[in-house]
Amino acid sequence: MRTAKRAVLTAPGKPVEIWEGPVPPPVGGDVVVSVEMAGVCGTDHHYTLGEVAFPGPMVLGHEGVGRVEELGPDVSTDYGGDPIAPGDLVYWVPLKPCHRCHACTVLEDVSLCPDLSPGRFKDPSTPPMATYTELANLPSGLAYFKVPEDTPPEAVIAFGCAMPTMLHAMERLDGISFGQSVIVQGCGPVGLAAVVLARLAGAGDIVVVGGPAPRLEMAKKLGATTTVDLALASDDETRVAAVLDATRGRGADVVIEATGRVEAFAEGVRMVARGGRYLIVGLWSAPGASSITPRLVNNRNLRIIGSALSRPRHLHQAVGVARHYHRQLPLAEAVSHRFRLDQAQEALDAVGRQETIKAVIVPGRPSSTS
Ligand SMILES: [Zn+2]
Ligand SMILES: [Zn+2]
Repeated sequence: MRTAKRAVLTAPGKPVEIWEGPVPPPVGGDVVVSVEMAGVCGTDHHYTLGEVAFPGPMVLGHEGVGRVEELGPDVSTDYGGDPIAPGDLVYWVPLKPCHRCHACTVLEDVSLCPDLSPGRFKDPSTPPMATYTELANLPSGLAYFKVPEDTPPEAVIAFGCAMPTMLHAMERLDGISFGQSVIVQGCGPVGLAAVVLARLAGAGDIVVVGGPAPRLEMAKKLGATTTVDLALASDDETRVAAVLDATRGRGADVVIEATGRVEAFAEGVRMVARGGRYLIVGLWSAPGASSITPRLVNNRNLRIIGSALSRPRHLHQAVGVARHYHRQLPLAEAVSHRFRLDQAQEALDAVGRQETIKAVIVPGRPSSTS
């Protein structure tokens, strides 16, 4: 039986280890995929620090683009119904809903399924649906979508879990109207995805508050009209003044939180214009509490909207954004760093130090096949 390597976090605070294990042929509705690129997400780094609940030894990575190696006997299409064959490129985020809970079947909102996260943390001695691996096994019920050959895989993986997360958030926001002003707090992949979607929605001013400089440069290339560098505007009063200045004193019709930092919340509330909306996207794994002035929410008719994770249709939409806009917008350019699988720890450290715009792991083909 062939074997493949995978990067395993055995405990928070310990260096990631490379394990090797067998990869049996896919059964039923499973598919075996050779990973071409695995996105390194800030959340992966939070796992290594123990800032997200540790489920036990786990293969890291929840953003993948890979080639179909072998289809299970029951598989003939992707989850959008498009025919699929060995050699095809597919994209997945290993969020596997249970389809038998209140969220999945009564609310019909699989993004709220309590089983989503544990689903990807199975025994690391078996082929994972996680992505820091040479060969992944995508089990039946986990959505994946074909990436057309005319679409650079970098344009998809640069916004690995960020684009579907932001597409979901935009849906919950109920869209941005032509010419509305937008402030994006944060310019990691989630903030950059917000810039892309605000631009495609026809937003007016798009002000990005974040850093470091290379990420702000990328934000400008993707559609930001003004950037506020945290290194220069290092306190909240300066930042609020800067965004009010950039929006003619009104604040923004839409403020999008994409920082993952709890302090950003109270600051963001102050940046919303009267009648505006505040979309909370980045605080998914941010511990801690924050104090705001509720009177501002009341007196200004504000709406505060939360959005967690994504649903399968947002992965399908993310492929569509990459396919249709990669020539107009330098989406693929956001991949700034590439690492081998055995450099997974280095990749995580670089992401932790915010040296990257987007880091990816390129596992390569397994060396031992038979
Ligand atoms: Zn992520
Ligand atoms: Zn469920």
